Amino acid sequence: MDSRRDFLQKLGLSSIVLPFVPLSGWAESLIEPETYDGPVLRVAIMGLGGYGSRVADAMQSCVKAKLVGVISGTPSKIKNWQDKYAIPEKNCYNYQNFDQIKDNPDIDAVYVITPNALHHDQVIRVAKAGKHVICEKPMAISPKEGQEMIDACKKANVKLLVGYRMHFEPKTLEVIRMRNAGEFGKVMFFQGQCGFKIGDPTQWRLNKQLAGGGSMMDIGIYAINGSRYMIGEEPMWVTAQETKTNPQIFKEGVDETIQFQMGFPGGAVASYLSSYNINYLDRFFLSGEKGFAEMQPSTGYGPIKGRTHKGELTQPHTTHQTVQMEEMAGIILEGKEPIVPVNGEEGLKDLKIIEAIYLAAKTGKKIPLKL
Ligand code: NDP
Repeated sequence: MDSRRDFLQKLGLSSIVLPFVPLSGWAESLIEPETYDGPVLRVAIMGLGGYGSRVADAMQSCVKAKLVGVISGTPSKIKNWQDKYAIPEKNCYNYQNFDQIKDNPDIDAVYVITPNALHHDQVIRVAKAGKHVICEKPMAISPKEGQEMIDACKKANVKLLVGYRMHFEPKTLEVIRMRNAGEFGKVMFFQGQCGFKIGDPTQWRLNKQLAGGGSMMDIGIYAINGSRYMIGEEPMWVTAQETKTNPQIFKEGVDETIQFQMGFPGGAVASYLSSYNINYLDRFFLSGEKGFAEMQPSTGYGPIKGRTHKGELTQPHTTHQTVQMEEMAGIILEGKEPIVPVNGEEGLKDLKIIEAIYLAAKTGKKIPLKL
């Protein structure tokens, strides 16, 4: 197999499809391994769980980013990852000793993929060790924490990026391109629905101490963030209503289902549903005066499917985490600007909205937003 086709297939792309589809700029970053001799971002992953494993596998197809280290509380996982990814002993850390990473010149960045409530302290420790940080969503469990993380990274002169993989997804970027080009006309309405029935009641996602909340922190955030990049504006107010059918599983502070509404400065209104108790919810709908976009699934690992008033979205499926890490390496090493921001300030805006949604649900009031 020739190297170009091999490379495109690794990314989940077909070289046959590529010439016929609009690529919205995202494919400019795709580089064939044989021709690349530029800088490489050397990454350690912190938290070797479900999503960390997915990112590690996806990074094997990256050219600009390389998995070189691990930080974990589980020695057996460290051993497995060392064997699987040829990670040297000197690049392995645990949660007690990872501050020593500051003395390791072979690691440029740490990707924090642990439970939400741990991100704050871990990101600040990584920043103090002088390494760039990529942090999973939600970046923290409160705006105060998010701001402290941004400040710590600024002070240490390191970059802070949040793992918003949809910001690099081709069909999503095509909808954003169409909106920017005025193809939907004035945007009047957005609908975002994110939900699934959660399993094991003992998992950290249902523990307020570790998750910081419930479905909103985990998946409602996709609908919030999605409306911001689909409409292209920041919301001005929010109202919200919570429904709890099972307080044994969804304890105090862990939201099961929340419906919420937001208003945007251009006149658009948006309605959302975030749930840990309703299956098959992964849908965005945008309506403008001249057209519409509908995506379902809209935020899963893909393939994302969608159509607009002009027809099906035909951009190819990519492995989200591979393209994300290629792009993030470009942002950190080359100062590239993504089409939709993935910096700490972007993560903080979603945390401010989540805090306001919880307040709106609790008080029944319309909460103004200042982002
Ligand atoms: P997992 O439970 O699968 O993995 C979390 C890992 O964190 C554990 O395996 C463990 O790794 C480490 N950890 C450290 N302290 C704890 C603790 N007290 N309790 C549990 N685990 C701990 O979670 P996910 O990988 O699904 O989620 C991790 C983060 O990634 C979350 O913030 C989540 O929101 C985000 N995420 C993002 C996705 C995306 O698409 N962008 C998709 C899924 C998750 P070790 O044993 O190595 O220490």
